[in-house]
Amino acid sequence: MVHVGEQRWFCRSAHEWDAMAERLKQTPCPHCQVVGMLIRHGCLYGFDENNHRRKTLRARRIFCSNRHARRGCGRTFSVWCADKVRRLSLTTAGLWRFLRHAACGSLCAAMRAANCHLSDRSMQRIWKRFDRGQSKIRTALCSRCPPPQLPAQPAQRTAAHVLAHLQAAFPNADCPIATYQHTLRTFFI
Ligand SMILES: [Zn+2]
Repeated sequence: MVHVGEQRWFCRSAHEWDAMAERLKQTPCPHCQVVGMLIRHGCLYGFDENNHRRKTLRARRIFCSNRHARRGCGRTFSVWCADKVRRLSLTTAGLWRFLRHAACGSLCAAMRAANCHLSDRSMQRIWKRFDRGQSKIRTALCSRCPPPQLPAQPAQRTAAHVLAHLQAAFPNADCPIATYQHTLRTFFI
């Protein structure tokens, strides 16, 4: 069993969220483990490459209630939409397109592919963020399947290898990054 850090909560659809929300009263708080105190606590909205002008739902907030003598811990947490990326105005699909092009060495092509409104600097930051997370991603993926055999690659192409591993781990996924987040219960980057 591979330790991938604190487990996060993701849902893939409004339908899945409804089912999760219905079970809230029977669900232990991830912070204090007390059952029966979780209540809905609003939503987080943000922009992404498909919605430059209108914010869309990114996450739902949940509160472990300590009000009115309830026994909760008073902390909140988020149930993220699996196709959104925290602190980033891209969907996982946009990020996936961007990374696949960037891994081939062209940040310009990558930006066009991501259909992106972000600046060069933001894109470089995203790339660095992915780069820093690579070994964590690789470890998480190894819990699903071994890395695919690829011809020997120069060091700068380890990114391409990680992305090939991601695709091998979730071969039927529309967006492997969304499926990674949902299945492994951790943020991709
Ligand atoms: Zn709690």
